[in-house]
Amino acid sequence: MTNGLDARIGSGMTRREMGRGALLASLGALTACDAASDSHAAADEHSPWRRDFPVLNQTVNGRSLVYLDSAATTQRPAAVIEAILNFYRHDNANPGAALHTLARRAYERYEGARQTVAEFLNAAQPDEIVWTRGSTEGINLVARAWARPVLRPGDEILLTLAEHASNLLPWRLVAEHTGALVKYVEVDADGRILLEDLDRKLSERTRLVCFSHVSNVVGYINPAAEITARAHRAGARVLIDAAQSAPHTPLDVQALGCDFLVFSGHKVLGPMGAGALFARRELLEQMPPYQAGSNMAHGIDLNTQDYEHGGHKFSAGTPNVSGAVGLAAAIHYVRSQDPALIEHHETELTNYALRRLAEIPGLRLLGPKSAEQRVPVFSFVMKGYTPPAILKHLDSEGIAVRAGDLAALPLLRRFGVTAAVRASCYLYTQTEDIDRLATALLQLTRPGAKES
Ligand code: PLP
Repeated sequence: MTNGLDARIGSGMTRREMGRGALLASLGALTACDAASDSHAAADEHSPWRRDFPVLNQTVNGRSLVYLDSAATTQRPAAVIEAILNFYRHDNANPGAALHTLARRAYERYEGARQTVAEFLNAAQPDEIVWTRGSTEGINLVARAWARPVLRPGDEILLTLAEHASNLLPWRLVAEHTGALVKYVEVDADGRILLEDLDRKLSERTRLVCFSHVSNVVGYINPAAEITARAHRAGARVLIDAAQSAPHTPLDVQALGCDFLVFSGHKVLGPMGAGALFARRELLEQMPPYQAGSNMAHGIDLNTQDYEHGGHKFSAGTPNVSGAVGLAAAIHYVRSQDPALIEHHETELTNYALRRLAEIPGLRLLGPKSAEQRVPVFSFVMKGYTPPAILKHLDSEGIAVRAGDLAALPLLRRFGVTAAVRASCYLYTQTEDIDRLATALLQLTRPGAKES
C-alpha cells in the first residue's frame, strides 16, 4: 500500500525524522487503513500486538509478568516460534543447492532469509549480507577481516563515549595488533553524540568511524546519515551499530550511506544466535576470510581452494539455518504491521513513561526528557537505592528490568554514575506495564520502605 507517509519516507525522510506532529498528520491522511488506525488508536493502552507473544501471558513471583527488558532481548511472537518449529518438523537438512529434496528446501529457506534481511536493510544485493550470531560477531568480523589487514600504526579509529562494550573492545584489540589509535567522540549531557566534537576529531588519519545508531542507555537516535556523511568527507569508512535501532527505526543502508552495519535478530523479535552484517560488496571482496572451512570455498585440495564471494565467503561450516528462518519470520512479522502505528504506539508509550517516571521522588532519568528522536528505553537511578536493590524489588513484583553498568560504563560515568536501572519497551508493551513499574517504584519511596 502506498500512502502519503510512504511517499515521504521514499523521499529519504525517516519516520523518526518526520517528528510526531508530521507523523500524526500522515496518519490522518491514511485512507485504506483508517479502520485499522481507529482500532489501534485506542490501543496505546493495550498493545494490539501483545496477544501474539505467548511468553507474556504468565505470572512471575505471583504477579502477572511485566517485561521491560526488551533492549536486552525482545520476546518472540508465535509466528517466529512456529516458523522455527516448522523448519525442524518439515525442512531440516544440511543445506545444499544441488542435493536431495530436503537439503534443497533447507537451502532455499536459508537463502530466502538472506534476501529478506537484504530487503529489511535495503541492501543493493543479498550478497552484501553476512550471517552472524549477532551484532557482536558482526563487529568482530569487520575488526578482524577489514581493519586488521588495512590499518597501520598512527591510523585512527573514532568511537564515541556512548558505545556498548561490543563496539569498544573489538577496536581496542585492533589497535593493539596494528598500532592504530582509538579516539572517542564526546557526547552531550544527555548522551547524544556531539557533532562538533566529531568534526574536531576527524582528520586524514581517521580510517574508521563506529557508532551506535541508538544508545542502549538513553534510547537517543543519533543522526546516522549525517555522521556517516561527515566521516566520508574526511575519507573514513563507517560502521553503524544498529543493535538498538533495528527494532525501532527503519533501516536503509543505501540512504544511510554506511560501509558496514550490524544488527542482532534477537533484539528484533528473532531467535538468539542469528544476526547480520551488511558490508558493501567491494569491501567484502577485499576482505580475507574471517573463518575458514567448508561452505566458504570450493575445490578445496591440499594446496588450492576457490573462495566463495560476497557474504558467502564469511560463513564457514554448517550454517544456523533455523536461526535464519526464525529471523526472516520476525522480519516478516514486523513488516506485516503498519510501521506508522508501531511508531505512534511507541511515541505514546514514551510520553507516558516520561510523565510517570517524573512523578517518582528521587528518581533521576539519564538522557533526554522528551520523546523527540528517541526510542522507549529509560535508564535511571534512584536516591537511596542501588540499581541491584531496585531490580530485586521490581523482580519480586513480577517486573523484569535490567540493572548494572549496561555494558556502557563510559557513558554512565559521563552521567556521574557507575550503574543504573534500565526499563525498555517494545511494541507489546502497554501503559499498564508502565503503571506497574511506577507503582512499584513509588512503594520504595514511601516512609518505612527499607533503603539499601
Ligand atoms: N550494541 C548495542 C548498542 C547493544 O545494545 C548490544 C546489546 O545489548 C550489542 C551491541 C551487542 O549485541 P549482541 O549481544 O546481540 O551481539
